[in-house]
Amino acid sequence: MKVVIAGAGISGLATAYALLERVPELDVRVFESEQVSGGKIRTERTPDGFLCEWGVNAFLDNKPKTLELAGRLALEPLRSYDASRKRYIYSEGVLHRLPESPPSFFLSNFLSLRGRLRILGEIFTPRGTDPDETLAEFAIRRLGREAFEKMIDPMASGVYAGDAGALSLKSCFPRIYEIEQEYGSLIRGLIALQKRARKEGKTDKPSAGPGGKLTSFAEGMGSLVSALCETLGSRVCTGQGVVRVEPEGKTWAVELSGGEVVRADAVVLAVPAYAGREILSEVCPRIGGILDRIPYPSLAICSLGYRKEKISHSLDGFGFLVPSREGRKVLGTLWDTSIFPNRAPAGYIMLRSMVGGARASDLALLSEDRIVDLVREELKTIMGIEALPDFVRVYRHEKAIPQYLRGHAEGLSAIQKELTGLSGLYMTGNAFRGVALNDCVTNAFLSAKDISAYLMT
Ligand SMILES: Cc1cc2nc3c(=O)[nH]c(=O)nc-3n(C[C@H](O)[C@H](O)[C@H](O)COP(=O)(O)OP(=O)(O)OC[C@H]3O[C@@H](n4cnc5c(N)ncnc54)[C@H](O)[C@@H]3O)c2cc1C
Repeated sequence: MKVVIAGAGISGLATAYALLERVPELDVRVFESEQVSGGKIRTERTPDGFLCEWGVNAFLDNKPKTLELAGRLALEPLRSYDASRKRYIYSEGVLHRLPESPPSFFLSNFLSLRGRLRILGEIFTPRGTDPDETLAEFAIRRLGREAFEKMIDPMASGVYAGDAGALSLKSCFPRIYEIEQEYGSLIRGLIALQKRARKEGKTDKPSAGPGGKLTSFAEGMGSLVSALCETLGSRVCTGQGVVRVEPEGKTWAVELSGGEVVRADAVVLAVPAYAGREILSEVCPRIGGILDRIPYPSLAICSLGYRKEKISHSLDGFGFLVPSREGRKVLGTLWDTSIFPNRAPAGYIMLRSMVGGARASDLALLSEDRIVDLVREELKTIMGIEALPDFVRVYRHEKAIPQYLRGHAEGLSAIQKELTGLSGLYMTGNAFRGVALNDCVTNAFLSAKDISAYLMT
């Protein structure tokens, strides 16, 4: 039996791997339109010794699937330095360290006293009635405007490069939505969850946020892709995109960009939403219409390396995010060499800034020189760095991260309904149920389970 997978990003590769684990004799083919596999995961080790991540920088170790996959591929995970748990927000001209515990939060002056008291009022705020609020509506209603603008809005930038006024809370941060629904209050919910965790002897504190420790590999995230490709071998075919799929009785005809038609018992689309829309335009335009409503704003990554002695800033932590009300041109900057070892040659540091996203997509498409200039200007204002960088890399993603807008969950249900009439066709990837790498890997394994069950009946 044969399965064709479109897309050799982590979703497609992990689906192929998981399928073969379940049914080793399966004939699995992964077709990738680009000349290289990995999708948004690609690592460049430059000849002068800088390690630059083109897209995905790391994953959190609090969800097991990526770590498990790495373990099965004999990859040694690399945990971030402890000090990188210190995170900063640039607000009103100052980098504020984000308080890490409730007492330190209430003692810090990051929010005004009024803003802090408003957060306490969250306990008395009634449960929401709108089943699909935006992140901004939810946060302002429960935590107040100041907490939203200074803390929640930058979170939308950090994870989605998104606009909190447009992202659906339920689809983007389902855990937060569930806590409100279950406990009526985030504070009460977290206290109850912490009590339960203590009773069960768990050491990890439950939180509404992502939690966990940032994790990568000594040679960067590209190691995960290389290991998967090595295991899958000639089953991965790059430079051959899927153009069209069509049901033919109980099988599927898959047309490739070179004109060849491959027949398969099941087809998995692990491509971005805009590519899925094209592939399905004839066989199911209704799914195409839903996929069309998932935008992908542009995002540029600008990595600058400096000789250490040029930088007086302590770089003690993970880096900073910038709330959109500050009107700056960077979404945030990671202090890469303070997060993982081995990211720059001895005697150098490296900073990685994000430009563009849903609120300023056009900035990401400026020329590389202009992007470097504007990042340098922002680093001068925010961190006092005036020196010329010794190393520069800019990566531009014209279509970066899918945005789950209001109505996303209904869209997914409608797609699921359409797919029931298209036996043997599956869709996975970051356009649907989580953009984080961990979500992609988890969903790839779930898809493999469904596909193998379908093939075995
Ligand atoms: C700049 C950036 C930074 C990120 N950083 C992080 C991070 O640090 N941590 C994290 O958890 N997540 C991060 N993400 C999210 C990341 O997108 C996902 O975690 C994950 O890598 C997405 O994998 P995917 O396979 O679903 O999609 P993709 O990686 O987009 O892969 C889809 C693949 O399909 C291919 N394709 C497209 N059309 C066709 C076609 N017609 N036929 C065949 N193949 C096709 C594409 O070329 C691509 O290789 C980041 C995203 C971006 C853009």
